[in-house]
Amino acid sequence: MDEQDEHTDVHTDVGAYALGLLEEDDRRAFEAHLAGCAACRAELAGLAGVADALRDVRDERTGPGR
Ligand SMILES: [Zn+2]
Repeated sequence: MDEQDEHTDVHTDVGAYALGLLEEDDRRAFEAHLAGCAACRAELAGLAGVADALRDVRDERTGPGR
């Protein structure tokens, strides 16, 4: 039972999760972790703004052209 190690690992997934880069399994595991981890929720809240900004950039590039 290496839950302690896995927990450390899953903390580092917050960035990838915010960007939607996690595999289904990892995403589910992270969401389960998120429910009990205030630190990751706080970090995710901060990263959500970054992810939105990145999405806006991408939309501008690939969005309806002029
Ligand atoms: Zn965490």
